Amino acid sequence: MDVDIKKLKQNKEMWDIFTRKEEYNSKHLDHFEIHNLKKGKYITKPIVSKFLIENNLKINYLENKKFAVCLTHDVDDIYPPLHHTLLSSLYCIKNLNFKQLKKQLFWKNSGKEYSPYRNFKEIIDLEEKYSAKSSFYFMATNKDIKRFRYHIEDLENDLGFIWDNDCEIGLHGGYYAYNNLGEIKKEKERIEKVLGKSVIGYRNHYLMFKIPDTWELLEKCGFKYDTTMGYNYGVGFRNGMCHPFKPFNLNSNKEIDILEIPMIIMDSALFNVSISIEQTWETVKNIINTVEKCNGVLTLSWHSEVFNWPFRENWKILYEKILKYCYEKNAWMTSGEEIYRWWNKNEESKN
Ligand SMILES: [Zn+2]
Repeated sequence: MDVDIKKLKQNKEMWDIFTRKEEYNSKHLDHFEIHNLKKGKYITKPIVSKFLIENNLKINYLENKKFAVCLTHDVDDIYPPLHHTLLSSLYCIKNLNFKQLKKQLFWKNSGKEYSPYRNFKEIIDLEEKYSAKSSFYFMATNKDIKRFRYHIEDLENDLGFIWDNDCEIGLHGGYYAYNNLGEIKKEKERIEKVLGKSVIGYRNHYLMFKIPDTWELLEKCGFKYDTTMGYNYGVGFRNGMCHPFKPFNLNSNKEIDILEIPMIIMDSALFNVSISIEQTWETVKNIINTVEKCNGVLTLSWHSEVFNWPFRENWKILYEKILKYCYEKNAWMTSGEEIYRWWNKNEESKN
């Protein structure tokens, strides 16, 4: 199931896309991905994965499943910031939903644990309906570009609950972490202290990432996989892949010992390019069908707050629609950790 590096190297076009060569010289690859914003720069088809399949890449899932869906949630907020509450309130009033309005406005009276965004049970229950499991990436830093988010230490029970339900806890690296070894290390230790176990999965906040440096830092910190590589303002296949792969460092001419599970659709990015709900669904369906044809892994990133933020109701509805569609297609819907373990097991049995 290994990516055939030799075969890829022989094809310069594929190799350059696979390694994201163009990003090596980019001085300004910030979270606004100026680099990729120019229209036409987005890679909308998994061309490298297709090339590999045509050249004998064989993917085997359990129970004859044709493709996998890796479900992930970045936990950006635990307590709704003021602008969320305002948008939600207006939305509730417009829709005469006073029960929800009360919940959004007055949860503080009952206590911090009643925050609408402490909704992990709700998300897990929804996924369970479709025999799915997911990953939750939590932040463990006080530094952020926009606002203070939360103290991970306050969430010990939530983390325990997620873990007990066979879902994964990973690190959502802070905005400033992606190029800072000490910072990544510190955040990893902080979340592990609360969880009482080690974490192996990573995604950086705002998808901040520097190729190939971030991968190298993550490997040094003991992460087993990363799932940051994707688009902030569009959907697609940033290095043409819809399969997990070991990244290649063009500077050192070596493979990096970490698995990248490319992130393909993020909620905010998807709705950023959407014109109508119908068109959004068509875009998503096309991507699902394409990944299915490649026996690939479709990684979704749906922010946890979306599930209890009335203003974003459509995002939640679409998520369930995707689960249902993929469930009917008999996809394997699971967490990043499970994808990593499956990929690794196949690698080991081959060696
Ligand atoms: Zn984030």
